Parts: sequence; structure tokens; C-alpha cells
Amino acid sequence: MSYVRTHTCGELCGKDAGKHVCLSGWVNKRRDLGGLVFVDIRDRYGMTQVFFDPNANAELFNLASSLKPEYVISVEGAVSLRPEGMVNSSMSTGEIEITADKLEILNTSKPLPFNMDQDNLDENLRMKYRYLDLRRPEMSANLRLRHKVIKAVRDYFDAHDFIEIETPSLVNSTPEGARDYLVPSRVHPGKFYALPQSPQLFKQLLMVGGLDKYFQIARCYRDEDLRADRQPEFTQIDLEMSFVERDNILSLIEGMIAFVFERTLDYSVAAPFKRLTWLEAMDKYGSDKPDLRFPMEIIDVSDIVSDSGFKVFDSAVSDGGRVRGIVVPKRGSSSRKECDAIIEKGKEFGLSGLVALAFNSGTPKGVLTKFLKEDRINELKKAMNAGGDDLLLFAAGESRSISVALGKLRLYLADKFQLEPSERFNFLWVVDFPLFSIDAETKRIVAEHHPFTSPVPEDEGLMETAPLKVRSNAYDLVLNGVELGSGSIRIHSRSLQERLFKVIGLSLEQANEKFGYLMTAFEYGAPPHGGIALGADRLTAIMAGKDSIREVLAFPKNHQAICPLTGAPVRPSDEQLKILNLKVNCSSEV
Ligand code: ASP
Repeated sequence: MSYVRTHTCGELCGKDAGKHVCLSGWVNKRRDLGGLVFVDIRDRYGMTQVFFDPNANAELFNLASSLKPEYVISVEGAVSLRPEGMVNSSMSTGEIEITADKLEILNTSKPLPFNMDQDNLDENLRMKYRYLDLRRPEMSANLRLRHKVIKAVRDYFDAHDFIEIETPSLVNSTPEGARDYLVPSRVHPGKFYALPQSPQLFKQLLMVGGLDKYFQIARCYRDEDLRADRQPEFTQIDLEMSFVERDNILSLIEGMIAFVFERTLDYSVAAPFKRLTWLEAMDKYGSDKPDLRFPMEIIDVSDIVSDSGFKVFDSAVSDGGRVRGIVVPKRGSSSRKECDAIIEKGKEFGLSGLVALAFNSGTPKGVLTKFLKEDRINELKKAMNAGGDDLLLFAAGESRSISVALGKLRLYLADKFQLEPSERFNFLWVVDFPLFSIDAETKRIVAEHHPFTSPVPEDEGLMETAPLKVRSNAYDLVLNGVELGSGSIRIHSRSLQERLFKVIGLSLEQANEKFGYLMTAFEYGAPPHGGIALGADRLTAIMAGKDSIREVLAFPKNHQAICPLTGAPVRPSDEQLKILNLKVNCSSEV
């Protein structure tokens, strides 16, 4: 008997009744019912029920009775309509079943390390036996979606005259704010390649090379602390263009997103996307990647509540701080205990004195009613656009830090109260980022985006005198509160690039040593250029409704940057180390 299929397991339906077919796949389940055996055979296309009758062929029936989950089988038989009342409308093949006349076991399977139908499986176990996990329909659907997204991206850029160009993986350092993964060179003892944190410098050089419109589905490597949406290696939809300004890139990407969502999810995305300046985002939402699916804007009420006699507010404002609040819709009837729990949570976010004002059928309750007369309360309510059943929460203190903390509280409350998101996908551009910031650890000036980002022309003159006031020509795309990608219009002149390096503390010598080749290229007719890179994994994960990018990666690493399947990273053999002229000074456990 041949195991070559006539059909897949997701293909047959009522109109195929009467055909003689061959299906091959995995045993999903065997059911022994009233002396009959039913087997669901599965492949990535779906599942089909196969029926074995002891009276028709006892030998075949006995073989079918021995089938266990994940055995690989091939069956031949006739397609027949299921009897009345047995049709399963939740299965694409639910109208039919195969009455088997041949069965071959192509391979057996050990008992499974986990129940593949179960929800909330242990993720490390899933990763260790990824080849089993990938057999689950959910995983193959995720990978298929990813394939379709990337295919749509390629088609979109191709239609817009972009050229897909591969850039090298063994490179000199391309800084994006993380540590490099290093690869020792055998040929040049003591020297190392870095794996690219992004194709940043190569794509800029492609513009100097006149390629004009470049894109790449680029693998990037960053050695940084891992969180739910991070992996040591990840994929970017990377592009660069010449002779463009910011808005050209933004509208190109809006078009790409609309095209990809339409093509893959049949979902129409409204463009242009909303834009916020970085300052607005920080003030109104306390985050540079605000999730605008939930209202709860942070509102400054300092002018309304100052001089009220309420000491916390009065002294914050007189010390140069602000009073800001958020409205939690329809939670005015929260109990004292619930409010206290929120205030306690606020402390975790750095809000020492969160003050609640609750409206219950229009009547205000809370300590502020002792200090604010009715007209001020009404003014407050109006300024915050609050309703008669809402809960208002206020914080006083240093402007930026209370906004950041209220921003965290806002997201916590949206989750806690399961607020209905206003839409499935919310896109937002954050623009006018600061060019520089102060690194929290080293307290040194660093490039907020990367050091190849240009300042907005009006602010260029402030680079040396007031660097923290300089806005950059950078932009971030945010989707549902997740930073989907970053880009910028780049520096394309040697002198400006040298000035920027100087501000971040790189001497001319160091700058030349690290990035001399880029600055030299700028001296040979570099066109103005800019670009962006979007996280392909994050985009697909959000489209698939998943919280973790691991769900859209075939072979991800775990939180410790370990591949539970292959065991990587591993200690090289002594022989390998010798060839590379390397000595390892610690035990592998360290
Ligand atoms: N290299 C990206 C850019 O196009 C940014 C990033 O990788 O995050 O600006």
C-alpha cells in the first residue's frame, strides 16, 4: 500500500462521497464505541474521521484497535456521508467519514510527554518537544499567519519598487542599545565578529550606493534582558529609502500595514494613524508607547485643585510639581476596600499618595469633598470629562514621574476591570522623540534612538548647548500599547555625525575607529535618507491575538535565552576552543 495521499485530512466533504481515497497523517484520537473503532486522522490541513467495522475485516479492525495517539498511519477507504445526527458542523470534514479498507502503520509513537489537547501547557515542555507542539493546529495556524504576513510584506514592497537585499550576519558592531553576540574568528585569532543588532549601517550604505529603496526580512541579534516580547534573535521588517522626509515613510508604512491586514486577516485598518508627539504621549499617557484602546487620559488639574487647603496638592504645586488624575469609568461605586487596594497598587508604581474621589449617582465621596467646594468639584468633573458614576484618582508630585506612574496604573486598571478595548487594533505614531537621554545606570548622555538619527533641523543648533532639549527626527509605530517599530531620518553628513558622536562622549578617534567607514561613505555623495524597522514577530503575535512572540516562532528560546530543544548554548569542545585560540575561564554553570 502506498502512503502517498490522494487528499489531505482537511479536504473531503459531502460532495466527495463515494470516492476511494488515501489519507496519511497522525492519529489524533482513537475511540472504541459499541464494538466499532473510530480514528481521527490529522495533518496540518485538518482532521478526518475514519471508521473500522469488525464485521467487514477483523484483521484490519484489530490493527486499528492497536492505534495510539501520534502513530503515523496511512488509510485507504471509501468516503461516505455520516449517518443522520452524526454530522459534526464544527469540523470542515464533519459531513463525511472514511470507511477503511486498508491501514498501514508507518511509524509508532511513545506515550506523549504532554496532552496535546490541553490548554495552559507547560511552556518549557512545549519548547523541549517543539516538534510535537508544532503539530497542534493552533501552532501551525500561527506559523501560517506569519508566512502570509511576510508574503504580503514582500508583495507590497515589490509593488513599490523596493529591492530585497540581504546584509551580512558576521559584522562589525551595529549598535541599537543592546549588547552584541560575538563570534570568534578562527582565521584571525583574538578577533571577533558581532552578530548584527540590526542591518542599520548596511542599509544606510545601500543608500549611499544608490539603491534608493531597500527592504529585508532581517534576522537581528541582541543580548539583552529577556521579557515576554523579547528573544535573543528576532526578525525585523527593515527598510530604508533615499530622498524622503518623515511623512513619506509614515504613509508608506501605513499603506503596508493596511495591505497586510486586509490580505491576511480581511481586516480594514483606517489610515492615516493618529500621531502624538513624545511629549504629549508622556504627559497624557505616561508612556512613549501608549495603549489608546482605553480612554483614561491623564489630565492635569493643578490649576483647579491648588490653594484648596488640601496639603498634599498645595505643597506639590508650590514645590513646582503638578496634580494629575485619571478617570476610571463606572467604578464610582467601588468599596472603600477596593479603593484602598488601588491606592496600595499605586504605591508599587511609585505613587505614594493616590487620592480617590468617587461619584455615586452623581454624589461625590472622598477626602477631597472636605476641601473643595461644590463648584470646584464640578469644575474638576468637567475638566476630566467624568460621569456621575466614575472613580477619579489623583496623584501629586514631580510632573514626569507622576505621569509615568499614572500611566502604569491606567494599564493596570484597564486590565483589572477588564475594560472593553475600543477597537481590536489601535495604531499610533509617536514622533518628535528627544535626540538624547540620560542613561539611568551610567548617568551619561546617550542617543535615545541610535546615534545615526538626525535632529529636527530647528533644534540642531542646541546639540552642544542644550542637548536634552533637542528633538529628533525619529518616529515609533505603536500597536495596542506595544512598540512595533522605530525609525528615523538619518544623518548623512560627516560633520553632523561627528558632532553627534561628540555629544554622546565618543572622541573623534573612537568615532573613527568604530564608524569611520560610515563617515567616509558620507564624504562620497551620501543622499538624504531615512527608514524604519518593524518587529515581524510582534506584529504577527498581535495579529494572532497572542501575548508572547514565542507563539509565532517555530523554535524560540526560553526566558534564560536557552533553547530547551537543542540545549543551546553549549560549551564548545576543547578541540573547538583550541582551533579558535580561546580559553574559557569559568565553569558552564556560572
Ligand atoms: N535600525 C532601526 C531603524 O531603522 C531601529 C531598530 O532596529 O530598532 O532605525
